[in-house]
Amino acid sequence: MKEHEPFETLDPEDWDAMRELGHRVVDDALHYFRTTRERPAWRPVPADVAERLTAPAPPGPADPPAVYEEFLRDIMPYTMNTTHPRFWAWYMGSGTVMAALADLLAATMNPNLGGGNHAAPLVEKQVLGWIRDMVGFPAEASGLLTSGASMANFTALTVARNTACGYDVRRQGVLAAPGPLTAYASTEIHSCNQKAIETLGLGSEGLRKIPVRADYTIDLTALEQQVAADREDGRLPFCVIATAGTINTGAIDDMNAIADFCERERLWFHVDGAIGAVAVLADNVRPQLAGMERADSIALDLHKWMHIPFEAGCVVVRDASAHRESFALVPEYLQREADGRGMASGSLWFSDYGLQLTRQFRALKVWMSIKEHGLERFGRMIARNVEQAAYLGRRVEESDGLELTAAIGLDIVCFRFNPGGLDVAALNRLNQALLVELQETGVAAPSNTTLNGNYCLRVAISNHRSRFEDFDLLVKEVLRIGNRLQDRIYSGS
Ligand SMILES: *Cc1c(COP(=O)(O)O)cnc(C)c1O
Repeated sequence: MKEHEPFETLDPEDWDAMRELGHRVVDDALHYFRTTRERPAWRPVPADVAERLTAPAPPGPADPPAVYEEFLRDIMPYTMNTTHPRFWAWYMGSGTVMAALADLLAATMNPNLGGGNHAAPLVEKQVLGWIRDMVGFPAEASGLLTSGASMANFTALTVARNTACGYDVRRQGVLAAPGPLTAYASTEIHSCNQKAIETLGLGSEGLRKIPVRADYTIDLTALEQQVAADREDGRLPFCVIATAGTINTGAIDDMNAIADFCERERLWFHVDGAIGAVAVLADNVRPQLAGMERADSIALDLHKWMHIPFEAGCVVVRDASAHRESFALVPEYLQREADGRGMASGSLWFSDYGLQLTRQFRALKVWMSIKEHGLERFGRMIARNVEQAAYLGRRVEESDGLELTAAIGLDIVCFRFNPGGLDVAALNRLNQALLVELQETGVAAPSNTTLNGNYCLRVAISNHRSRFEDFDLLVKEVLRIGNRLQDRIYSGS
């Protein structure tokens, strides 16, 4: 059959024009990073933009520059804006320039890290080794880069469950267990762990949420009592999930005490370190994490306090063979060559260590970013955020009309505007209105939480671009908006 001319592929028809566009994209990306402080911390998506983003897929082609113009007009400006120096919502990282470039290169190479004999899995292995060393796990430990801590926790809890069952759970399922398998964590546990426990077939009742102490860390006495009572009842306790940096307030459970308890009770000790595990790099946090290195598994995020662009999480597991036995399943079409030659040779099949077969080259952005900055600089960025949280805490405490609603944990500050004389419901409404207005002014983007019934602003300072004066501005604006809203309440309008 004769080929049509020009031969149709998905490559550019005009390479020179695409090259020009590519240069523009890189220029615009760097400009975006460089000028992020000059733009609002957040802005809502206008109705006409949202409307255009419901259009059906085009049946025919468009000019690449026209597609890019649409991106510039409708998508780029209405971002979550995690790169902004006053973006402090939920718990995000703020990105690095080198990692953004790395993602372009990773997509250019387009390798599949399910396995195979190529350089990319070696890069992932190297990155995993760096992280393993960072958290103090032994060289034999295994690991996997994941989309985030949700998948990392899920992966670790699967290994914990399978190990605890003590029979071939992959063949027989959880119904063959002699009793209901039960995991333990504090009431401050991140919801992804509950989803994992549910997905593992243990039911949400398979996760006991233990009360916390005043500092939001797990109450160990209550934990011991619950485990004992559950054993009495014929349940099978198998795992304690400690949190290194809770999502609400940044609290770090007592790692050594939980490690001791797990040793005594023969339980799997898992750490959800999505937020705080990487803070072992920071001198002013490391002591609080003592004992984390005794865990059986740790889940952590690189797209939070390490600022790698989404998505990048990681799980490390002390018992590499238990990890592999939980996920390896090799059909004929994925058979490997044993003699060390050819594309399917080598033992680095990361698909043996998690649910995903096809895996992106997320290791490259981590590798390039860590190479560029070195681990110590990441540690200094983390340490500074912790100092900034203390600074904001002081500013809140010395401001009339502001109060902290929880002890500051790591880099998370929860506070509210409280002019006095309002009941809880009115205070909650006032602070809700205040936060929305603060976000809509574009000055700063904290998020919210509710602690003991008190709605509050939550400032999670995992941001390497925040300056101390950014917190002065926050305090000033919260007071300005708060006082104005309060006047409105009292004047009845
Ligand atoms: C963010 C977070 C998670 C979930 O991580 P993802 O990366 O969003 O999947 C789990 N646990 C804690 C403590 C978190 O802060």
